[in-house]
Amino acid sequence: MMPVAPSPIHPVAAFGRIGEENAFAVLARAAALAAQGRDIINLGIGQPDFPTPGHIVEAAIKALRDGQHGYTPSVGIQPLREAVAGDIHRRFGLEIDPGRVMIVPGGKVTMFSAILMLGEPGTEILYPDPGFPIYRSMIEFTGATPVPVPAREENGFGFSAAEALSLITERTRLVILNSPANPTGGVTPKAEIDAFVAGLARHPHVAILSDEIYDQFLFDGEAHTTLLAYPEIRDRLILLNGWSKTYAMTGWRLGWALWPEALFDAARKLAVNAWSCVNAPAQFGALAALTGPQDCVAEMVAAFDRRRHLVVEGLNALPGVRCAVPKGAFYAFPNIAGTGWGSAKALATALLDDAGVATIGGPDFGVFGEGYIRLSYANSAENISRALERMDSFLRTARAA
Ligand code: PLP
Repeated sequence: MMPVAPSPIHPVAAFGRIGEENAFAVLARAAALAAQGRDIINLGIGQPDFPTPGHIVEAAIKALRDGQHGYTPSVGIQPLREAVAGDIHRRFGLEIDPGRVMIVPGGKVTMFSAILMLGEPGTEILYPDPGFPIYRSMIEFTGATPVPVPAREENGFGFSAAEALSLITERTRLVILNSPANPTGGVTPKAEIDAFVAGLARHPHVAILSDEIYDQFLFDGEAHTTLLAYPEIRDRLILLNGWSKTYAMTGWRLGWALWPEALFDAARKLAVNAWSCVNAPAQFGALAALTGPQDCVAEMVAAFDRRRHLVVEGLNALPGVRCAVPKGAFYAFPNIAGTGWGSAKALATALLDDAGVATIGGPDFGVFGEGYIRLSYANSAENISRALERMDSFLRTARAA
């Protein structure tokens, strides 16, 4: 083979620092194995296994038939922005200004925009670890310094106000919170959020990005504490939410954000420069989701709750595995330290290749994820039981790497 000369074309240095979301790589590998005829059970990807409710699909089809084929305002169609405000009022009794709501193509876009807007060399951004991998990836992309806030098993994987506040410096520009959390299912108690918000009074230069995309996935009667409930930080709060998880709409690419006045116009300009607006019929589907019946959400959450018990009981019966009961989202984050597998990523790879069960190694969510794997229980009870049986026989027979 002729040696290949290095190309003179290359992306700028920042792309040497941008990361990935390994769940997509695992999804591709699981699909490749399935294409070879292997029976793969996918507990890797974080998306509801339910179809989008029919009335939402019909509303989007109707929008297409009605001729909604053009650009919409870059901030989203006005009735949808108002429906977002109405939904917040219905669920929390809180007022938000529809004029500050942005409809975006996926929840991820809000973290992308917020981190891009506030991160640059010489600044610091605090983010949860283990946490959604794009937080750190985007922080590094901007040249800002990522400062992990550990989410610890002994705190139910919640966020510690004292620890986060102790990490704030005069260089901190943004603190990212995520409750209920991916990948742990952890829920931060209200008292901790109260303490954090009180402490922020000493740091007026710090903005907050609250990723509340799992806010309806709470169990055992737990109520969601939204950061919107704290008027004292409204002028520096960016709220991330969307339709992907709540209405089983991951492939529609739809999210919404509430921006503070100081940042709203920058967010709008990013939209104008990058995506112009969100797919018009999808916005009409989103409108039907918020204004239509909500029992589809309750039914889905009830199904997740049943699977949650199944997965946690099954995991705790596996040799060397210990799993705390997650209070939210649809992930279990078992501790695998007792299995003899020193590397959680090696265990996740072996489980996929040898046992046909796709999971994600904890370190894909940050350094504090070592010793854990993530299982998404967005799969049927039958598949979850089969996966647990396979994991059991694998752990009893395979030699740890
Ligand atoms: N935030 C968290 C914590 C997530 O887990 C995800 C998706 O997995 C997102 C945001 C992104 O959601 P979306 O698919 O709407 O971009």
